[in-house]
Parts: sequence; C-alpha cells; structure tokens
Amino acid sequence: MVTEDYDLIVIGAGAVGENVADRATRGGLRTVVIERDLVGGECSYWACMPSKALLRSPAALRAATAVGGAREAITGDLDVNALLDRRDTFTSHWKDHGQVDWLESAGIDLIRGRGSIHGARKVIVTTEDEGQFTLTAKHAVALCTGSTPLIAPIPGIASMAPWTSRDLTAVTNIPESIIIVGGGVVACEMATVFAQLGSVVTVLSRSQLLDSEEPFAGELVAESLIGMGVDLRLKTHISKLSRAADGTVHAVLENGAQIFAEQIAVATGRKPRTDDVGLDSVGLVPGDWLHVDDTMLVRDPHTGGSEFDGESDWLYAIGDVNNRAPLTHQGKYQARAAGDVIVARAAGLSVTAEPWSQYAATADHQAVPQAIFTEPEVASVGLTAAAAKKAGYEIRVVDYEIGHVAGAALHADNYRGTARIVVDESRRVLLGATFVGPEVAELLHAATIAVVAEVPIERLWHAVPSYPTISEVWLRLLEAYGRPSDW
Ligand SMILES: Cc1cc2nc3c(=O)[nH]c(=O)nc-3n(C[C@H](O)[C@H](O)[C@H](O)COP(=O)(O)OP(=O)(O)OC[C@H]3O[C@@H](n4cnc5c(N)ncnc54)[C@H](O)[C@@H]3O)c2cc1C
Repeated sequence: MVTEDYDLIVIGAGAVGENVADRATRGGLRTVVIERDLVGGECSYWACMPSKALLRSPAALRAATAVGGAREAITGDLDVNALLDRRDTFTSHWKDHGQVDWLESAGIDLIRGRGSIHGARKVIVTTEDEGQFTLTAKHAVALCTGSTPLIAPIPGIASMAPWTSRDLTAVTNIPESIIIVGGGVVACEMATVFAQLGSVVTVLSRSQLLDSEEPFAGELVAESLIGMGVDLRLKTHISKLSRAADGTVHAVLENGAQIFAEQIAVATGRKPRTDDVGLDSVGLVPGDWLHVDDTMLVRDPHTGGSEFDGESDWLYAIGDVNNRAPLTHQGKYQARAAGDVIVARAAGLSVTAEPWSQYAATADHQAVPQAIFTEPEVASVGLTAAAAKKAGYEIRVVDYEIGHVAGAALHADNYRGTARIVVDESRRVLLGATFVGPEVAELLHAATIAVVAEVPIERLWHAVPSYPTISEVWLRLLEAYGRPSDW
C-alpha cells in the first residue's frame, strides 16, 4: 500500500537505489523507490551482467585452449546460441520479478513511474498513464538515476541511429561486421566480444586504448585485439558517417580512409540522467552531473552549500549520477555510506563528511578498483604512475612479468602479463597497482587492501603468497623493490 509520506524517497531503482533504500530501511526508515523502467537498472540488464556473460564463454574456451592436454580435447567452436541463452539467464530475460520480490521482502515500497523533484523534499511521480501525485520526504530524497550513453558529435551521427551499450549487450543477431567508436572500457570489452562471436570488427578511437590505465594495459589489449583480427585505428578522427540505402554504414576518416560495415556502435562516454528530474525546481542545472560531499549530500557547485529552497541536508545523489566513480561496486559503497548517514541524521546525530568520519565514502578518492574483462584482463586500483606524479608524490615504480611466476606458467602455456606497483617513497606504502594478464581480476582485492590500509612495504613481506599461485607475483614485486635490510 503506497502512502504519500515517507522518511526517504529514492528516485531510481538501479543497484545503487536498491542499496541505499535497503540500508535506510534496515535503519528503521520508511522508504519508497520510484522506478520508471526495470528494477535493477543498467548493471543487471544492459551493462555488467550481460557484458560479462558475453565475455565469459570465449574466455573459458580460451583458457582451456591455453593448456596442453586440455587443448587437444577441444574439437568444436563456440556455440553462439548457447552463449546468448546463457547471457539471457543472467539478465533474467529482461524481467524484473526477482528484484521486485526482493524489494518487497526487504520492506521497501516500489512505485512504477518517473520521479521528479518539485522543491524541497517534494517529489512528483508521473505514472505510465500520465497520472500524477506528490510524495513528501520527512528526511531525505536520494537521486540514483544513473547515466546514459553520450554520443560523440561526429558529423552524420544524428541520422545513423547507432547502437549503444544497450544494443551491444542485448544483441541477438551478431552482425557480420561492426564499427565500434571509442577506446575506453566498453569499447574494448565489446570489441573483444564481437571479434570472438565472429564479427569483422573495426575500432575507431581518438586516443590510445584504455588511456586512463597504465600505458602497458592499452598496449597489451591492442596487441590481443589485433591478434583476434580487429582492425584497430587509434588516434584517428572520423570526418563523416553515412548509411547507404541497404543500411550499410560508411565511415570516412580524416586521412581519407573509408570503412564499410553492417553496424556501428558508439561507446564514447556517459552523461548524467538528470535532464528531467526537476533540478531546476531547487536551483540546480538540469543535465549536469551532481556535485556531492563524501556523505553524498548534494552541494551547490557555486556556493558549496547544501541548502535548497530554504531547507538543508535533504538531497543526496548516489552512484553514476555524481560521476565520482561510475562503477556498480563503488556506487553500492556510496549507497551503504549514504543510507547510514540518512538514518543517523534522521535520528538527530550530527554527521560530517570529514575524512575521519565513519560515514565518509573516502575510497572514491583513494582506491577505486576496476576489473576490465578484455583478453588479457586488466585489473587496477589506486593511482597510476602518471597520476601519482601529477599529484606530487615522490614515487618508485616496480614492474614484473607475470609469466615468470611459476603459478602463471602452470596456469597457461606461454602466459603473458605485466604487473606494476606504484610506491610512495616517503611513506613506503602502495599508491596503486595494475595487473594485466589472464585471470588477474582475482589479484585485485589484495591490492585494494594494501592501498586502502596503507600497509607498509616492510609488513607486506609478511603476507606470504601461496605456492604455486599467480599471486606469487606479489613476492617478485617486493623482491624487485628491495628488502627492508637494503633500504
Ligand atoms: C556496457 C557496460 C558495462 C559495465 N560493466 C561494469 C562492470 O563490469 N562492473 C562495474 O562495476 N560497473 C560496470 N558498468 C557500470 C555500471 O553499469 C554502472 O556504474 C551502474 O549501473 C550504475 O548504477 P546506478 O544505480 O547509479 O545507475 P543505473 O543502473 O543506471 O540505475 C538508474 C535507475 O534509475 C532509473 N531512473 C532514471 N531516471 C528516473 C526517474 N526520473 N524516475 C524513476 N526512475 C528513474 C533508471 O530507469 C534506472 O533503473 C558498466 C557499464 C556499461 C555501460
């Protein structure tokens, strides 16, 4: 039964909205979430789950092919239909019954419709049949409306109806050929998928691949994509796009080169879903990313205050919509922090966003882990060497070839990969770590703990990796750095 007054109103039931609602409900607040599409959001249906499901079957086959003895047992090719069926089970066939049931079991009300702020603590809900009603929040409104694809302004793109990440991850008919525009995570993962599913893939990127990672990450992924037959055009600009009468895509590059393909997809970044959520009713700018403090309280980008319409400390923005670290796990981390903050403030506690506050989501600044499921995988956390230098740290960089580790050599014949740690020389703690190679995503959490806990290098010597695992790369990195007795 839906009532009109709630302690907390959450707009958007993606992974982040669900988590903030759960945390607040567990803390005793009466909470409603408003969702205009599928409960579960992008991650469940058009992002993390389907993309990783599409990547997993070829990765499993490749892993077996890389091991003599297993290799000889492989007598067939990928079964694309079975792979797509498996992907469909991970997206629950784009039905949200399971997540709706979970909301109910967690004691969270759900309203289907579009939510829009209408002044302090008020939210107008517009239902599918264009009916409208107003909800009032006693304590807080949380905007968890996520992000949508940003289509780069390429001449001709407007009339192309290009595929975006939604079409790529929900694909049913694999195109014979596809142009993927972009060089970031989505472009690299999707080029890996479509090349392995049999498409002729061309990647057009203005930069190197994965240019916010250590340079060797993009280089190893580029090498591998080329090995899969991908036509990789980096540091290139598209002058014009058009579609022939039969639907064929025609791209002309600035150097005059021409590329033809059955389909085109754009993976050129994200923009906030804030254009129609009523930001103007509280003096904020529709279409902007929302600026927040470490408790996810929205701050006015000009004044730095959290007072809107004469009322303060009621509007929160969590997950992709604040653009701090647009990843599901990081958004859920923010949601746990914000949910607890909202409960504490509702109980009259004074909660600050200072770094030492137990509620502050400080990891967004210090240690954001990311696993990229290309071939090879890329797993990184904290600062790259370039970012650490830019931030003014005195650093030492240590690299090691993961293939020299016994566990890696056992894992796959001719294992190739690189590990890097970035050490803050003044405190002798890790600022960042990057691993590139088969199955390195599982190495990432150890690195995250080392960075977040600021474990001194001399203590890391006592974290002994078991033999023979790929984790022994940690020991090799420490040996390459030097023993405490040598310092
Ligand atoms: C292809 C791809 C692959 C990815 N892979 C990974 C990965 O492997 N790991 C990872 O950590 N991250 C990954 N991400 C990022 C991840 O998907 C996002 O960080 C995450 O989905 C953000 O969650 P969110 O809840 O903030 O937003 P969303 O998931 O976008 O949820 C927002 C919800 O709000 C609803 N909504 C919007 N406006 C309104 C309104 N006015 N009223 C009511 N409802 C509204 C939307 O319908 C949606 O359900 C990937 C992204 C992409 C595009």
